[in-house]
Amino acid sequence: MKKVALVTGSSRGIGAATAALLAESGYAVCINYIERKDKAEELEALLRFEGCEVMSWQADVSDAAAVNEMVRQVERRLGYVTLLVNNAGIAKQQQFQDIEPETWKRLFDVNLGGCFNTIQAVLPHMLHEHEGAIVNVSSIWGSHGASCEVAYSSTKHAIIGLTRSLAAELAPSGIRVNCVAPGVIDTDMVQVLGQETLEELARDAIPMGRLGRSEEIAKAIIHMAEATYTTGQVLQVDGGFFT
Ligand code: NAD
Repeated sequence: MKKVALVTGSSRGIGAATAALLAESGYAVCINYIERKDKAEELEALLRFEGCEVMSWQADVSDAAAVNEMVRQVERRLGYVTLLVNNAGIAKQQQFQDIEPETWKRLFDVNLGGCFNTIQAVLPHMLHEHEGAIVNVSSIWGSHGASCEVAYSSTKHAIIGLTRSLAAELAPSGIRVNCVAPGVIDTDMVQVLGQETLEELARDAIPMGRLGRSEEIAKAIIHMAEATYTTGQVLQVDGGFFT
């Protein structure tokens, strides 16, 4: 069967590295973005130049109608989705008592609701074919507590719950659901912490002494996508942060 991947939030960071590696590994790939159309189109053009089959599509993963339309377009242009990578995510650091209800809701709508919307959209065909793989991107804060990141950490815990439960439900249907839980990765998302804090973190908390790279998470995502006897698992990729 033709390998077709949809990677959410893939105009930059971990998503872009994953979309690129998948395309270079022979998948037809849809690069999904919510903003920075220019970055998405730049990546699309680069991969097409390398001979890969790619498209890009704007959709907010929290919007079910937009996600359904995106999946329809992918089916029309590339074929049915055989690999879904739920990478899109947002974070917000603040003390719990300062979290506005809208912020709490938005984090859940994007990080967890996005997974719900995309999985619901691609699942009918995977069920029909009795084949498919889903890789959700959680975080080390999906299985450990994180001060000042209660909302983000809660959504990432929920993604692990979704992964494990859905894996049990879908295994008899030939569909695998796994999770990758990155540690601190050098992307736009962590720049809010500031260079000094990131250097301190790398030195004092990460046994490997450095932040992770997007490409290292992309490799782990593809590993979980292709691990044919593995489902319901969480692969932590964190330089030894939590052992
Ligand atoms: P990033 O901020 O560079 O990438 C996130 C991507 O998601 C961006 O392209 C953004 O535009 C997109 N996005 C956000 N909201 C969206 C929406 N509603 N619809 C569609 N796309 C949307 O950060 P990143 O580090 O590359 O993050 C990728 C994933 O990895 C996220 O789920 C994040 O929580 C997770 N993660 C990152 C780290 C880290 O240290 N960088 C650690 C653990 C987990």
